[in-house]
Amino acid sequence: MERIVIKVGSHVLTENGAVARVRLLRLVELIVDLQKNGYEVILVSSGAVAAGYSQLPLDKKIVANRQALAAIGQPLLLKMYQEKFGIFGILCSQVLLSADVFEYPGHIAHAKAAIDTLLENKVVPIINENDTVSIEELVFGDNDRLSAHVAHYFDAELLVILSDINAYYDKDPHKFTDAKQRSIVHEIDEEELQAEHSPNNAFATGGIVTKLQAADFLLKHNRKMFLANGFDLTDVKSFLIQKVHQGGTLFVNG
Ligand code: ADP
Repeated sequence: MERIVIKVGSHVLTENGAVARVRLLRLVELIVDLQKNGYEVILVSSGAVAAGYSQLPLDKKIVANRQALAAIGQPLLLKMYQEKFGIFGILCSQVLLSADVFEYPGHIAHAKAAIDTLLENKVVPIINENDTVSIEELVFGDNDRLSAHVAHYFDAELLVILSDINAYYDKDPHKFTDAKQRSIVHEIDEEELQAEHSPNNAFATGGIVTKLQAADFLLKHNRKMFLANGFDLTDVKSFLIQKVHQGGTLFVNG
């Protein structure tokens, strides 16, 4: 079985400040489809802050408020996932991690044992940062880096990032009309890794740079990353199920 991690960003999962329920259902359908096609899928999901904000609109500019919103929203988000996976008779589970878990081999081993057991039993692990104790990804990154660590340390071949953008371009496509899509990337320059952060949405905190940092980490550890559109899942389905690379960017060692 091929183990993969799918990371879905805030922008894809939210609409008008609340969780985008239809897109969440489409994502669940994709994961069910992937399971049928022999994949073990770990999901890294953002969206807790937005789910909390729909209940209590605190000022999101303040980090402690975002932590509070995540604490309110995380169980609501999981409830939505449970309902949608339930339609297909599939169980899902909540795994909250902080970045420092990956600094301790003992903690990594414990987390991996739990995740292996969930996957053996066809339960989908849904991972998020534990935002009350660790604010790294809440402040900056939107789970891009966390998902790269998850892929590496929990032994997944591939990280799939479902974003508001359909691929990596040679320059920001929202600023330059002549930006060109890159289909395969073997190496990421230092300059690209140091670029300014450019999230495209009030809930997003990463932008393309944190995605490139995630890809760079995975390439250095001999793993792959695929960046594709999270609003329209045609490219990711084609890549993973039909095994045809039509759209999206594959980061892979040459
Ligand atoms: P998400 O919420 O899906 O994680 P972000 O908004 O954080 O996505 O990051 C994706 C955004 O990064 C794009 O919508 C785009 O505005 C911006 N961006 C900047 N440079 C590039 C580039 N070279 N290729 C693709 N996107 C870029």
